Amino acid sequence: MNKRAFNFNAGPAALPLEVLERAQSEFVEFRESGMSIMEMSHRGAIYESVHKETQERLLALLGNPKGYKVLFLQGGASLQFAMVPMNFLGQGQQANYVMTGSWAEKALKEAQLIGDTHIAASSEADHFMSLPDLDAISLSENPAYLHMTSNETIGGIQFKEFPDTGSLPLICDMSSDILSRPIDVDQFGMIYAGAQKNLGPSGVTVVIAKEELIANSPKHLPTMLRYSTHASNDSLYNTPPSFGIYMINEVLKWIEERGELEGIQVQNREKAALIYNTIDNSGGFYRGCVDAGSRSDMNITFRMESEELEKEFIKASVQEGFEGLKGHRSVGGLRASIYNAVPLESCKALVDFMNHFKKTHG
Ligand SMILES: *Cc1c(COP(=O)(O)O)cnc(C)c1O
Repeated sequence: MNKRAFNFNAGPAALPLEVLERAQSEFVEFRESGMSIMEMSHRGAIYESVHKETQERLLALLGNPKGYKVLFLQGGASLQFAMVPMNFLGQGQQANYVMTGSWAEKALKEAQLIGDTHIAASSEADHFMSLPDLDAISLSENPAYLHMTSNETIGGIQFKEFPDTGSLPLICDMSSDILSRPIDVDQFGMIYAGAQKNLGPSGVTVVIAKEELIANSPKHLPTMLRYSTHASNDSLYNTPPSFGIYMINEVLKWIEERGELEGIQVQNREKAALIYNTIDNSGGFYRGCVDAGSRSDMNITFRMESEELEKEFIKASVQEGFEGLKGHRSVGGLRASIYNAVPLESCKALVDFMNHFKKTHG
């Protein structure tokens, strides 16, 4: 095999090599069935065991919170932006949002199509370069839920804690930091995530929700857009993305082998610190984009003195085997996405490259 790239893609993103190799070994024939997992019925015993195993493993990694259900949906986190207000925003209520950047804005926009909304907190005045103060959250009069984005993938800010919303459901888009650290699931009414950053391949959206919250969806909604349809059919109402779910199961096993979420968090912090320290110790050659206290351990955004220099940096990085260091097209600059599966070695290689580039261009 050719050398694997130092992959810093934002999503779809790096998957663990061990998982890819395991999948490769099981690709043509799965569990002595005479066929691959993609070729068998999703109603058969073999697929159903993978489906169930993946749900159980995910909940176990999250500490087996009581009364929660795992759903496997499609349409990405983007469809959740719409399904959340469709299912939970009633007449006379307001959908409350915490505004932190590009993804929070997309989520709010969908809710505005469905009903009344309210901005409960925002760091827009700071151009989303910092997190809003959670003590300053101000809810609307009759809130249906509070929606947050735990990690802004494009801007590079990440919440380290979440507010206590009492009986009001806290709904969180965790697409880009799910399973990167331990969390207290009990704080949330619902968590959702597109799989392609920290969980597996694109094509699966994972929802972890309180059973009582998703038991009764409005009857006027189309069947496929009701959480209750998927909850009561155990995400087998229609054909699930079976290969993607199998891959998630393998990624979850890989997380277990790495000390579960506590172990993963230690590794993630070490990786992030390496790169942030390189930025901070560069004498201003590299500049972190966001407020130091709001920095993401998943998406590190930084800039250089000029766009020309940034272009040169990206070009040189590609020649050295680095992928995905260009910032999102909407903001420019540079970004290193270091999800769970990005190895420490890739981060060390990036730091070496950054230091070398500084020496030759500083
Ligand atoms: C990538 C991303 C999304 C969009 O996910 P899709 O699966 O492409 O719809 C939404 N929210 C966050 C925080 C993301 O990082």
